[in-house]
Amino acid sequence: IFIRHAQNEKLATISHVASSMVHEVRNPLTAVKGFLTLIKEAPQDLPKVEQYITICLDEVKRTEAILSDYLSISKPLSQRQEQVDLSQQLHIVHDVMYPFAIMNNVELEIKEPGVPVMIQANPDEIKQVLVNFIKNAVEACCDVEEGKVTLSLTQEAHSVILEIRDNGIGMSESDINRLGTVYFSTKSSGTGLGLTYSYNAIQVMGGKIGVSSKPRMGTIFTISFPAQT
Ligand code: ADP
Ligand code: MG
Repeated sequence: IFIRHAQNEKLATISHVASSMVHEVRNPLTAVKGFLTLIKEAPQDLPKVEQYITICLDEVKRTEAILSDYLSISKPLSQRQEQVDLSQQLHIVHDVMYPFAIMNNVELEIKEPGVPVMIQANPDEIKQVLVNFIKNAVEACCDVEEGKVTLSLTQEAHSVILEIRDNGIGMSESDINRLGTVYFSTKSSGTGLGLTYSYNAIQVMGGKIGVSSKPRMGTIFTISFPAQT
């Protein structure tokens, strides 16, 4: 009976995940289908065709992003942690995310001490975590003038502190309380899985997360990791 109970719970989880994934992937698919139909009906109207193809490409990219959010939470977090230079990882991720920031008219800046800053982590997972936070910060700044995201890394006696600061839309008190919970998203095409993954991964690394945010003022995430000696 216990086995069957566990099995049923697993099935319930799978069907829940599957239905929310289908729901999210269906929207961009429907859009692509609609625009391809328009192209088929009037292939000679080149300016329109070009516009529709751009929309289709964006929707396909959105689908990829949704699927990679689901993929990242479907993989168990690694128990294999090693000494990682967080400063170096920051620069790698900065270079990856820089085009995304530029595309959204947001400045992306790193402040780090210029020496290796070691933490205990899994390199692939810490990169994914950094991508998730930076992506959210840039998205939060999309509609503000002079959007800016600053990543500051500091080494303290017993901890390593990473601050991710943006001057974007900010969050209400009730939004802050829901951060990190599965499927919590305020975005039209958000999965609400990025922070779920990140909160779990940081916990496995022994890190802690603090948030300070105000609507229309921006947000500061402060992640502290135990210092390595
Ligand atoms: P998603 O980005 O797909 O919505 P996330 O798990 O990455 O999902 O984030 C969950 C929610 O947390 C977002 O929808 C947004 O409401 C809020 N959030 C996260 N980071 C920020 C930020 N820097 N500024 C404002 N809101 C944020
Ligand atoms: Mg996100």
